[in-house]
Amino acid sequence: MYQSLPGKEQTTHREKGKQMNIGRRKRRERLKLQRRRESRREKKRLLGFFAVGCAMFLIGAFAGGFYVKNMDHFVQAASQEPVESAAWEGNLQAKVEEMQAEILRESQEKAQREKEQAEEQEENLPTDWNLRLVNRTHPLPENYEVELGSIGGGHQLDVRIVDEYKKMIQAARAEGVYIYVSSSYRSMLKQVELHHDKILDGIKEGFSYDEAKTLAATVVAVPGTSEHQLGLAVDLVSSEYRRLDEKQENTKGFQWLKEHCWEYGFILRYPNGRTDITGIIYEPWHFRYVGEMAAKEIMEKGITLEEYLGALPVSAEQ
Ligand SMILES: [Zn+2]
Repeated sequence: MYQSLPGKEQTTHREKGKQMNIGRRKRRERLKLQRRRESRREKKRLLGFFAVGCAMFLIGAFAGGFYVKNMDHFVQAASQEPVESAAWEGNLQAKVEEMQAEILRESQEKAQREKEQAEEQEENLPTDWNLRLVNRTHPLPENYEVELGSIGGGHQLDVRIVDEYKKMIQAARAEGVYIYVSSSYRSMLKQVELHHDKILDGIKEGFSYDEAKTLAATVVAVPGTSEHQLGLAVDLVSSEYRRLDEKQENTKGFQWLKEHCWEYGFILRYPNGRTDITGIIYEPWHFRYVGEMAAKEIMEKGITLEEYLGALPVSAEQ
């Protein structure tokens, strides 16, 4: 019986098989879909990771670069500060040195200019024997020698002015004015004695040695700086008053000499109120030979020999 039903059985079996196949296919397709979906998700996840990784890498690189750059700046700033400060200190030091050098250079140039000016004036002084300047700043050369001639009474002068001197004294005498010599040529030794005596006088009066020395220099020339050593100077007094002080200016002798001395080439060498130029007090008895031409100008203008020659004044305070 059952054999008569094989077809049915077969059909059922076939159908069953068919249905099973369908089920398997569906399941397979579902699985495929599922796998595809999973694979897509997986891809998305990977892409996400990759994107995040890239972003993080970029951020990191950027931040790192910025940090490094910033660090460089800090390091530079930190190291530059002392470098700059050292450079500034160095500049200041250099500036100070430069200024000091400039000051030194200026003072040296000034000293050089003054020296040159002084030398120029020295050089410009005439070399004529009768115009030779002798004062505290213009001493006589060492071992200066002069040929002397007698003017009587044991006195001597440079032989070249003896005649002129005699003529002058005789001319005064012819007018009834009697003039006498107090001092004429002095040797170095004589000048040293006189100067030394003058210092002792000052000390006796109560001055210190330095004070007495300074005072003595304005009254008796420091040895080597006296015109009496030159043989061209003479101290003259009038017959009625023979002392060497300012009262000598009131004598007939002085009045006559003041008016006529230039005619014989003589000048009043240390006029009143000219100590700041000559370095010597007013001496209305000291006459110096310079020659007629110079004497005329000096006496007419009432100037000193220093001014006439254009020499530097001799300060009494020196
Ligand atoms: Zn004198």
